[in-house]
Amino acid sequence: MALMTGEEYIESIRKINMEIYMFGERVENPVDNPILRPSLNSVRMTYDLAQDPEHADLMTVTSPFTGNRINRFTHIHQSTEDLRNKVKMQRLCGQKTAACFQRCVGMDAFNAEYSTTYEVDQKYGTNYHENFKKFMLYCQENDLTVDGAMTDPKGDRSKAPHAQEDPDLYLHVVERRPDGIVVRGAKAHQTGICNSHEVIVMPTISMGPDDKDYAVSFAVPLDTKGLFMIIGRQSCDTRKLEGSSMDVGNPEFGGVEALTIFDDVFVPNDRIFLNGETEYAGMLVERFAGYHRQSYGGCKVGVGDVLIGAAAVAAEYNGAQKASHIKDKLIEMMHLNETLYCCGIACSAEGYPTEAGNYMIDLLLANVCKQNVTRFPYEIVRLAEDIAGGIMVTAPSEKDFRDPKLGKYVDKYLKGADGVSTENRLRILRLIENMALGTAAVGYRTESMHGAGSPQAQRIMIQRQGNLGYKKQLAKAIAHIE
Ligand code: SF4
Ligand code: FE
Repeated sequence: MALMTGEEYIESIRKINMEIYMFGERVENPVDNPILRPSLNSVRMTYDLAQDPEHADLMTVTSPFTGNRINRFTHIHQSTEDLRNKVKMQRLCGQKTAACFQRCVGMDAFNAEYSTTYEVDQKYGTNYHENFKKFMLYCQENDLTVDGAMTDPKGDRSKAPHAQEDPDLYLHVVERRPDGIVVRGAKAHQTGICNSHEVIVMPTISMGPDDKDYAVSFAVPLDTKGLFMIIGRQSCDTRKLEGSSMDVGNPEFGGVEALTIFDDVFVPNDRIFLNGETEYAGMLVERFAGYHRQSYGGCKVGVGDVLIGAAAVAAEYNGAQKASHIKDKLIEMMHLNETLYCCGIACSAEGYPTEAGNYMIDLLLANVCKQNVTRFPYEIVRLAEDIAGGIMVTAPSEKDFRDPKLGKYVDKYLKGADGVSTENRLRILRLIENMALGTAAVGYRTESMHGAGSPQAQRIMIQRQGNLGYKKQLAKAIAHIE
């Protein structure tokens, strides 16, 4: 099958009978649900842009396995150029949605699984690489969206998976059958899972010999029996039910997370990519996290571009664009944003081939990238709020603005620069509010902190990869210390 259009993608998701709950009720029609739909639209953008002649070169690539044109989100990276193009594609998607477009986790899981399964098979003579390749080609050929599920709830953080009081706090195998395995557990804050066709499950930490049942990786479709999702709340989420495009700030796009439960889910043998080889759990985690930390040097930069643009427009609408401190704040925002992009490009340019042949990013630089992402977007948001002014959080609603009695007062007193309508001024301020504090803040701010691993996870990797011993040798040599 060829690439799907955006519309075909939406209809393909509609056909999957997913079990989704929100506010204590089953969502019967998730595709048209006003709270969920914006996040589906964000994934749709990855299909629409692939059809757009202006962006097709970046968004699509020739599969080295089939020779067919595929969406880059299903690609196994063949070069450092592929790695750089991935980051560029993510920046573009961030610019077009100002939200998390979700499809990257599958791409990052694909590339981590591709190399890890190969190395497990080399050691144990298992068949995981072939299993994975078959699944990956199915996704490439059908242009599917795949969620990558890593984060277990983790319970008592001081205890290993097998040592938890409740054994289900890390997802694990509860039954081994001749035809497959049965797994139980949950994966927390799964962005985009309800917009995906398939989910790849991976372990969340390095594991020891006692964690055998927890060292498991596999893929299942989203309508698998026993798999269900509980949608997470976001700040201002129910504003989307009010039908006001002005008040939500970004009426078309968003992201959504779900606590995903695997309540005795059956996985057939040919969908298993790791099953008990505990020493490879850490490798899979490290590689997936590395790729996803590279990803943030693209997606968050694209969303940052929109936020910087919104702050500049807000300044113009206030008539403040010529003030030197405003110009300087915008320069600082761009400097911070481009620094993140430098990190994403650098860890890609320094990539190298794995034993399986696909390309891995430079792990140290990818972790530095994400560490900066845990900080710079906060400063960019701070500056955007500074420029926007308090009115971004105190403005009356669209209903007041449209009200026959109140409207003329809102219009009169919230007017900014000459020639700028109050409506447009309110729209740009709501967009900044949305990215700083509203539903998109999940994807831009808090996700910058915790997505792809919380800051401490990167610091551990920086310590491991930073080669402090070599730096000490350098200093001693310069100081003539024997
Ligand atoms: Fe992609 Fe960024 Fe969302 Fe991760 S946070 S899925 S990299 S858009
Ligand atoms: Fe993320």
